[in-house]
Amino acid sequence: MISIDPKQLSFAKKEHKKGLEKYIIRNVELSLSASNQTKLKQFIRENSEKILIGDLQQLLTLNKKLVKLIVEIDKDGVDILQKDLKKIFIYETIRGREEHLYNLYKLSKNLGIEVCPYCNRNYTTSHQYKVNVKDIEKNKYIFPAFDHFKSQTDFPLFALSFNNLIPTCSICNSSIKNATNINLRHPYNQDYITNYYTFSFTPNDYESLIGKKENIEIGINYKEGINQKVKEEIERTLQFFNTKDTYEKNHKGVIKEIINKKLIFTEKYMNELEASYKISFNDSYKILFESYYEEDKLHKRPFSKLKKDIFDDINIKANL
Ligand SMILES: [Zn+2]
Repeated sequence: MISIDPKQLSFAKKEHKKGLEKYIIRNVELSLSASNQTKLKQFIRENSEKILIGDLQQLLTLNKKLVKLIVEIDKDGVDILQKDLKKIFIYETIRGREEHLYNLYKLSKNLGIEVCPYCNRNYTTSHQYKVNVKDIEKNKYIFPAFDHFKSQTDFPLFALSFNNLIPTCSICNSSIKNATNINLRHPYNQDYITNYYTFSFTPNDYESLIGKKENIEIGINYKEGINQKVKEEIERTLQFFNTKDTYEKNHKGVIKEIINKKLIFTEKYMNELEASYKISFNDSYKILFESYYEEDKLHKRPFSKLKKDIFDDINIKANL
């Protein structure tokens, strides 16, 4: 799991509001015409901006107000939640919407999140290409899965909310998360995740210490003084996505490669490279380790967080 600073996403957020606000209001007018729907109509109209681009906390507060309102309108309220809201916030529509309209391809392009924020393993990039269908050239759009951070079945009000649509890989979205609603750490977070936890490695034999074998265990270390609530949230999220186990079962080779490279590209070598070519540490790290060291760029390469932490962990171990 990595964090993506919401400041990086401000353009995408503005476009999201611009692209969907009129659509929502139009759906409200078309779908909520009965007299007992007036209050609900007013609620959505008044809160359309918050519904579309509010942060998770604002969304949850809105949902509480909505539930209260629904009970006022109709004690049972099931029809309102299940039918009325689903006629307004229609996820399927913005998935496959025509290319001149705002859709999930455009959201994905605007977000620019290149690797799944949940697993940091698989790419979530988007692109467009031309296909020939019966001699007619058409555009085809490739974009990632979008996870509803809070499931649209339980929270239909958030089905089109910016902060509830997280671009993810298909494995995290379909095989792991689905419609789960446990309290996970939201990936759009100003606090960089490395302030809270890092990966480390423990070699079980000498060959693994010097990068010749992969007999390695991965550790997750929480920073000293971490707020207990934040720690529990991160622990829950890492456990939910089975991160340590997935990395240990499939990707110990990444750690072995970092150890190999650190033995060749020593600190002295990196310093010389930086001085000779007048480049920064971040640049030399990127050239040699084929990943990003900067926290705000971790979403650009698979395993960037694991690589960065192991790089630092080797330095720590070397200085012991
Ligand atoms: Zn993933």
